[in-house]
Amino acid sequence: MIYIHIPFCKQKCSYCNFHFSTSLQFKDEMLAAIKKEIVLRKDELQNKTLQSLYFGGGTPSILSGDEINSFIDEVLKYFSFASDIEITLEANPDDLNKSFLKALSSSPVNRLSIGTQSFFDEDLKLMNRAHNASEAEGSIKRAQDFGFENLSIDLIYGSPTSNFEIWKENLNKTIALEVPHVSSYALTVEPKTALNDWILKGKVSNPREEEQNKEFYYLSDFLKDNGFDHYEISNFAKPGFYSKHNSAYWKYKEYLGIGPSAHSYNGLDIRSWNVASNQQYVKKLNSNLLAKEEEFLSIEEQFNEMIMIGLRTMWGIDLDRLNEFSSRLVECFHNEIQPKIEEGLVIIENNHLKIPEKHWFMADGIASDLFIV
Ligand code: SF4
Repeated sequence: MIYIHIPFCKQKCSYCNFHFSTSLQFKDEMLAAIKKEIVLRKDELQNKTLQSLYFGGGTPSILSGDEINSFIDEVLKYFSFASDIEITLEANPDDLNKSFLKALSSSPVNRLSIGTQSFFDEDLKLMNRAHNASEAEGSIKRAQDFGFENLSIDLIYGSPTSNFEIWKENLNKTIALEVPHVSSYALTVEPKTALNDWILKGKVSNPREEEQNKEFYYLSDFLKDNGFDHYEISNFAKPGFYSKHNSAYWKYKEYLGIGPSAHSYNGLDIRSWNVASNQQYVKKLNSNLLAKEEEFLSIEEQFNEMIMIGLRTMWGIDLDRLNEFSSRLVECFHNEIQPKIEEGLVIIENNHLKIPEKHWFMADGIASDLFIV
């Protein structure tokens, strides 16, 4: 699978610490550099058939239909791909107007991941999103009118402007809009964000963990009651609408990340990442050089990565795969795991190690307790 990072946004959301620029001044240079990286890395993923191509960001919907098509052409020219390849575009509601959707509907893009976040203006204002509540709803309906059935929306819970009743309303609207995939995250306060600053200055109250916990479990129960599978801690899909792209990450498959700050993984022991600076990225690519650094993952790191990712999913970790690691690691792990099994924090089911769903809100903590150091 291939991920392409488009590092531009219209404005900075108050909670976001991703890599992007709000200046489009050097957009053309950036797009040319990304295309050059595609060509320079055309021999990676050899003998692999692409199952998914994902445009993330930043805000890929800031591009025109023609620009998106030219990237897709470039990728499909150099990589072999499955006939049912999933091509996802992350899109913000304010970009999904009729003319853009018309262009997308005649392109190979067959899945949209819409940054809805909330259907309430108070939440969207606090988040400094570029769209309002009516655009949040209208964009989904318009995308469906243009034939996009494979739709995902992002929703954020636990905002200080929200409460349990508002959260329930957000989910009722999601069901009414017949969206088949939802990615939902707790609002987190990252360093160096406007939200962090407002909280430090007492202008906004800190998100409350107990409220987030309650909203998370309501989200899970409510979406499951409405026909969704809770297949990863933050992801829900109706049957047939699981994200191929994200599922591949969670099954430790190889992926190629193109564009500034994008990460790549060889499916085994090498992880790499591109520089998180638009200027440095373009400069390197202009000299026909890749702008990436890489690290070799030790056996312990590979083992821990499998624990962290696997325990966040409904599939859990295949114990046969864990047993392929050295007997020393497996033995250490079994010593750590026993007390967790006794506490009911993890279970073994069909030879897979899992966290029961009722403990998913603290899955990262349980997984890190099991790390081998
Ligand atoms: S649109 Fe997405 S990437 Fe851009 S600032 Fe907002 S959350 Fe961050």
